Amino acid sequence: MRTLLSSLLISTTGLALAPLPADAPPRGFFPQSIQVQRDLEARFKTMPDPSHMREAMRRLSARPHHVGSPYDRDNAQWILNEFKSYGWDAHIENFDVLFPTPVERIVELVAPTTFRASLQETALPGDPTSNQQSEQLPSYNAYSIDGDVTGPLVFVNYGVPADYDELEQRGISVKGAIVIAKYGGSWRGIKPKVAAEHGAIGCLIYSDPRDDGYAGGDVFPGGPMRPAQGVQRGSVADMPVYPGDPLTPGVGATKSAKRLTVAQASTITKIPVLPISYGDAQPLLAALGGPIAPGSWRGGLPITYRLGAGPARVHLRVKSDWGLKTLYDVIARLPGTTEADQWIIRGNHHDAWVNGAQDPISGLVAELEEARALGTLYKGGWRPKRTIIYAAWDGEEPGLLGSTEWVETHTDELRAHAVAYLNSDTNSRGYLGIEGSHSLEKFINGVAMDVEDPESGVSSWKRLQASRILNGTPEVRKDARDREDLRIGALGSGSDYSSFLDHLGVASLNLGYGGEDDGGIYHSIYDDFYWFTHFSDSAFVYERALAQAAGIAVLRLANADLLPFAFTNLGETVQTYVKDLQSLRDKRAEQITERNRSIDEGLFKFTSDPRAPVTAPQHQQVAPQLNFAPLLSALDSLKSAASRYDTAYNKAVRDGRPANAKDVNERLIQAERALTSTEGLKNRPWYVHMLYAPGFYTGYGVKTIPGVREAIEQGQWQDADREITRAAEALSREATLVNGIATSLSNGAQ
Ligand SMILES: [Zn+2]
Repeated sequence: MRTLLSSLLISTTGLALAPLPADAPPRGFFPQSIQVQRDLEARFKTMPDPSHMREAMRRLSARPHHVGSPYDRDNAQWILNEFKSYGWDAHIENFDVLFPTPVERIVELVAPTTFRASLQETALPGDPTSNQQSEQLPSYNAYSIDGDVTGPLVFVNYGVPADYDELEQRGISVKGAIVIAKYGGSWRGIKPKVAAEHGAIGCLIYSDPRDDGYAGGDVFPGGPMRPAQGVQRGSVADMPVYPGDPLTPGVGATKSAKRLTVAQASTITKIPVLPISYGDAQPLLAALGGPIAPGSWRGGLPITYRLGAGPARVHLRVKSDWGLKTLYDVIARLPGTTEADQWIIRGNHHDAWVNGAQDPISGLVAELEEARALGTLYKGGWRPKRTIIYAAWDGEEPGLLGSTEWVETHTDELRAHAVAYLNSDTNSRGYLGIEGSHSLEKFINGVAMDVEDPESGVSSWKRLQASRILNGTPEVRKDARDREDLRIGALGSGSDYSSFLDHLGVASLNLGYGGEDDGGIYHSIYDDFYWFTHFSDSAFVYERALAQAAGIAVLRLANADLLPFAFTNLGETVQTYVKDLQSLRDKRAEQITERNRSIDEGLFKFTSDPRAPVTAPQHQQVAPQLNFAPLLSALDSLKSAASRYDTAYNKAVRDGRPANAKDVNERLIQAERALTSTEGLKNRPWYVHMLYAPGFYTGYGVKTIPGVREAIEQGQWQDADREITRAAEALSREATLVNGIATSLSNGAQ
């Protein structure tokens, strides 16, 4: 479900590099294993075949395949048979989850004039799958509560908390109103959540043409951008609280699972929500009176953007079928040999909102092509040391359902055996986007150096470095030129890695190329084979590059003598998080002081335009100092342990196999787990990772050291000190573990 935009925003926050020699050995291999591994990778790289992936995409996206649809099940069966034909041991694992589908949808303007929204994406001649209306899910937001409401309309920009502060200063309340928000600026599920907190009774979300419509290029089918009738579907469940089946938080949604009632499920919205096209939104927005919207709120429609409330009144009716649907997770396995109880897991989802050629099939066909290549090697006699598990998840789109329920079902095994999880979701032309656990940053930089970029002919790593040097901020440019590794972004939520990383502490990576194919078909009926082959990676060469990158990462993780974790980049990255938190506290303190002063001096009164009056905001509590010392001191310990580990690791890979490599690997697996806390985050205990989580009020934007960050942002100063202590405890556990591993490795290597 990740949008290209979101992954770009995350990944451009900072890759860097210090040039490794082009022939640097793969991380984690002893001298006697390097040549064998290189030969294996060379054979693997020749195998992914663009024409094969093109045909797989055509097949998998031929019909709508959302959760519960006949073609979703058909695809799962086809994927299962593919895995089996490649030589994998494969099966389907089923779960029964709450998945509402729309029964009634009405949006109409009832005053001052009348207009009924079409709520219909039209079939386009020339686009052969856009006319499959009997199988398409109508445009809607899954997990919107049922409702039938009428009220004045208010335009709320992106519908995030700061937007409501602006409205309040202009004397506009949304109490009893229906809000209309633009897509963007947050994950969509945040919009109805914040609207309900402010007393709204309904929520419309529309795609403004400035964001992914005609402002960015020709609209589909003449170009890649969103046409006037195109609608973004999507989940609005409150996933920052917990993802997965709303009825079975924390446990797998098996047949016998104990289920909440729908009324008890806290992740279902409090008010009805519906997404609409800009074609349907324009008459509603044009009917708004009230103050003119602030400059940054205005979009690309040929109207004057006003805030309301009134005179526009809207009637919104949403009703769903709240039945359980069956998920089909396809799970395939290549058994390991000497380290069979260590698992390398790779996944991509197979369900879509409609035909989903880009999301998720562009990621899935690369994954399947890796599986085909690995199967060919296996049939030829190669055996991985560790067990490799490939998953094609169902139900990602409604709420990471298939991966979450699988992880919740297999929690104990995964805690004991999972080494790493490698995810992809969508793929297109451009730059290799990498996000994930910073203990794998050095490892994945090595992989990116060994995969050629199809358009430039240099490595994917080099092309990314070039882009950061040319287009980055001064800080990003400096990192890109001087740092040994390109930085990888942090992961919050937004795709199937979430349960592995956030809920279990399994080190995770998310990979995908992108940045050169802006489009406006996300979660619409136009995300299909015609669109992808005309406006994205039409030669399927970036599909091949993704299969090479992810496949080589799997081959290295599966065969490494020493698991390729490293901790100096983790320590250095966490240090940047702590610095950010310190400056966030100082900035907040300064803002509060200055604002309080402006209120006291009457400045808001003096500058208010009597024809568009603005009132002063409320006084806020002055920010106290926070004690960051425990965090800084834990960080020092981690950095020192990381450096000791590097020394021991370098000696081990130079001198050859230490006697205790097996024991060291067992302990390395636990390194990401050490960053979790059993009690989890405040008010959302499902999230146990102390370094990464989706923001409570932003959705899948990543919050780093989320407990502390959110306490500062929300002015909960006592919580902030307590959360600093909790984060420091996690870092101390990590430091102790890494230090112990370093000691053990240097003893074993002597
Ligand atoms: Zn997706």
